[in-house]
Amino acid sequence: MERHGSEMNNTIEKLIKYHELTKEEYVELLESSDKAGIVNCLAKEAVKLRMKYYGKKVYTRGLIEFTNYCKNDCYYCGIRRSNRHADRYRLTKEEILECCRNGYKLGFRTFVLQGGEDPWYTDEKIVDIICSIKQEYPDCALTLSIGEKSFESYRKYKEAGADRYLLRHETACESHYKMLHPKEMSLKERKACLYNLKELGYQVGAGFMVGSPKQTLSDIADDLIFLKELNPQMVGIGPFIPHSDTIFASEEAGNLNLTLFLLSIIRIILPKVLLPATTALGTIDPKGREKGLSVGANVVMPNLSPLTNRKKYDLYDNKICTGEEAAECISCLAKRVESIGYELVNERGDALY
Ligand code: SAH
Repeated sequence: MERHGSEMNNTIEKLIKYHELTKEEYVELLESSDKAGIVNCLAKEAVKLRMKYYGKKVYTRGLIEFTNYCKNDCYYCGIRRSNRHADRYRLTKEEILECCRNGYKLGFRTFVLQGGEDPWYTDEKIVDIICSIKQEYPDCALTLSIGEKSFESYRKYKEAGADRYLLRHETACESHYKMLHPKEMSLKERKACLYNLKELGYQVGAGFMVGSPKQTLSDIADDLIFLKELNPQMVGIGPFIPHSDTIFASEEAGNLNLTLFLLSIIRIILPKVLLPATTALGTIDPKGREKGLSVGANVVMPNLSPLTNRKKYDLYDNKICTGEEAAECISCLAKRVESIGYELVNERGDALY
């Protein structure tokens, strides 16, 4: 840790020892994302922690993007309701089960049902889908990622057998949240959903986009403080990538190095967290996912959606892996993971806490 200046050395030591910093300290640390010595030091510590708890294992989650209809209008998102160019689709229960069958044969033991907030799928329909998947694959974990719902709806899904829920908080700063979302959406509600999910016993995933429009380092510090407070089992972060049919079309994409730095920091803040190297990270850099795994991430989420719909779940421009069958995706990923000395495993990969 030589040559960082003694104050920064203290901050780094404090982060490693106590897994937490003050807001001012986080901001100061984030200002160092271009200092190789500091970045490498935290990456080394992050890898040490991931090795301690998870070894060289990389868990896979089979992502099934089952609808791109959405009643929300998040300004950054390509499937937002007001994007008239989006070519909308919904998968039937049978089509979803077919994705699971295909995935199971390929070794997946976690399925993630993700979609826009689509009221066509009533609670009754969602519960029926959950029950069917859990009946056919009792040995698999089922994750939902279908947005903000009532406590009662979350309760029904949990009772039907859902194990986990991904709901990124997107940004933990109230004023920044307002810049990214229409006025009918609120950070308060988003956070309340996350706490409800925890209370119901879900393994919960939160997270945010790196470099979303108008994001400051102070906002990211708020994200880190919120993550520590929520203590989720999973954290999904990836760079913001502009979508050409949104008002943010000409904004810059999030920065690779800052995203990698944040993966290391999040591994240190929450040592046992399940941390994916996301598709968005693989989109801004051809080796993005490998780089993410090399600095603390331990999960990948290949796509199991039918090839015909793949391109239509168009959250941001140039999304990778929209032209390959799931089998091709997984063998490509397995090779990528091996190339950096890690090992793709066919396990549920439940959280350690
Ligand atoms: N409707 C669900 C799923 C949203 S899509 C929900 O509300 O949780 C999953 C994630 O993709 C979002 O949480 C968001 O963080 C990310 N995303 C959306 N648009 C993006 C963009 N333009 N660039 C990068 N990530 C984006």
